[in-house]
Amino acid sequence: MNRFASFTRWLALCLLSGSVLAASPDGVVAVSHPAAAAAGARLLAAGGNAIDAAAAVQFALNVVEPQSSGIGGGGFMLIHLAKTGETFIVDSRERAPAKASADMFAPDGLPMEFPLASTSGLAVGVPGTLRGIDTALRRWGRKNLADTLEPAIELAERGFRVNRFLAADIANDHGRTRIHPETAAIFRPGGVPLAEGDWLVQPDLAKTLKRIAAKGPDAFYRGPLARAIVKAQQRTRSELGEAGQGRMTLADLAQYQVAIREPLIGHYRGWTLAGMPPPSSGGLTLLQMLKLLERFPLGDATQGYGFGSPQTLHAMIETMRLAFADRAVWIGDDDAAPVPRQGLLHPGYLATRAALIQTDRRMDTPQAGDPLPWESAAAVQPKPSRTKRDSPHTTHFSIVDRWGNVVSTTSTIEFTWGSGITVPGYGFLLNNELTDFNFMPAADAVQGNPGANDVAPGKRPRSSMAPTLLFKDGKPVAAYGSPGGATIINSVLNVTLNLIDHGMSMQQAIAAPRLSVTHAAGKVNCEGGQDFMQPRFGVAAQDALRRLGHVGLGGVGTDGCQDMIGSVQAVFIDLATGEQRGAADPRREGTVIRVKSPKATME
Ligand code: GLU
Repeated sequence: MNRFASFTRWLALCLLSGSVLAASPDGVVAVSHPAAAAAGARLLAAGGNAIDAAAAVQFALNVVEPQSSGIGGGGFMLIHLAKTGETFIVDSRERAPAKASADMFAPDGLPMEFPLASTSGLAVGVPGTLRGIDTALRRWGRKNLADTLEPAIELAERGFRVNRFLAADIANDHGRTRIHPETAAIFRPGGVPLAEGDWLVQPDLAKTLKRIAAKGPDAFYRGPLARAIVKAQQRTRSELGEAGQGRMTLADLAQYQVAIREPLIGHYRGWTLAGMPPPSSGGLTLLQMLKLLERFPLGDATQGYGFGSPQTLHAMIETMRLAFADRAVWIGDDDAAPVPRQGLLHPGYLATRAALIQTDRRMDTPQAGDPLPWESAAAVQPKPSRTKRDSPHTTHFSIVDRWGNVVSTTSTIEFTWGSGITVPGYGFLLNNELTDFNFMPAADAVQGNPGANDVAPGKRPRSSMAPTLLFKDGKPVAAYGSPGGATIINSVLNVTLNLIDHGMSMQQAIAAPRLSVTHAAGKVNCEGGQDFMQPRFGVAAQDALRRLGHVGLGGVGTDGCQDMIGSVQAVFIDLATGEQRGAADPRREGTVIRVKSPKATME
């Protein structure tokens, strides 16, 4: 029996899809696709640690979930090392090229249309995923890059079965798999979109991954592959002409560097969270919301604050509106310009924001607050900058290994299918991450807007990605995160409240319907269309929200909660027993694998 077949047989013994699994001393992976989960489990079973498994999962996702993440994109890997107790982030966010400029998405003073800009080379940021993985492996892994690429190479070479989610993303691609011919050739061979059950083999991608395995990341960031990336991102849409061409050069690729960051640490009702600092808004906005919500007795049904009650949902909506108003103005890449982190989380500042929430009615659309005095700076009255539409994709996976190391990674090529540009001959998609920047420059000294998320050379676009670790008594107890653009932060918030306030198990916390507001104006999105989403947000509760003035829920007496928000994959550790478990999201083909290998047992 060859290695692949024996691995598959081993896997069949320990795989359960979309469910919670029993205790395991040897590690657990929770991933949005079974084949990528299997890649991670394979590394754990072969003596690798959580960082090795994360690398294998990421490379495999590039093959089986190519519309969401890959070496053409970037992401954040939040790592907790059991031995030293350190927690840190490998930031492989894409960066703007040196020739980028604040007005590049609005060359004539008007913003480009998102569908055009995001499918042109101009949107492509310098990719960071491979450099990030290589850095993590070199510093904290037990395996080498080639070992972690092996499962992905096999999947690309031998092929895999197209699942319902990939087929749906091809069918509903907003044209993105049709615009550029190399992408169409893979996902629409002969002009026919791949359907569920079709077999997809990706020889170009296999060749690329093999080349990286043989020569290391420089085979990507320099030489022929780098030249092919630079050429590919010179593609533009005819409507944009030269203005749509990418500005990335070989020097931008050769000079790409990851950042190792300290997590943002916050506390909520006796629990500690480690989250994502700038350039993501994920951690700051999450912690702001938690600190505002801590004022309410969430979870106490006797006071009217049980799960899904109008009071609970009203507090969540108003909190989201306030935090997202601040996010739009104050958060960006603070390697480029300082973000008032202390001010935004200062109890005095948060008290001024909390005072805007009334329990008996919806507040008028809130402006961003002024956290600068809480940072000892001058007072200003900023106006919010433009925010863009959310994409449903990106990916999150969580891993714990037998030593207790934990990884929580969110990874993306931005919109579903990224820029839609596949590097010719190399078989992977390039991101459109630069469209996460403000299209219109927002910096305005008079208004006091710092232009925190305006484009600048070398800068990282503001993200919403929020890989999160939850600690109790200094020990990690859960790792989770989600895709979903700005809704990511709210998915993580919903799950956190479900765990801490509503006393749910991790699987219940993930399955429960979510509520999300990503703009100060306050249009409410909420879930309920799937059977597993329990307990439902009732029509009576929705009517109560309508009476308070909330918008986006449809007419009185109707069920306006029909959305689908995020996809959370989590691992968690029972501190009392040491049990490691996982929970996966039925919103995608979420998969948990418990690793219990003979080899692992012998060690
Ligand atoms: N580009 C998004 C971000 O970094 C992630 C992609 C998405 O899920 O929309 O926040």
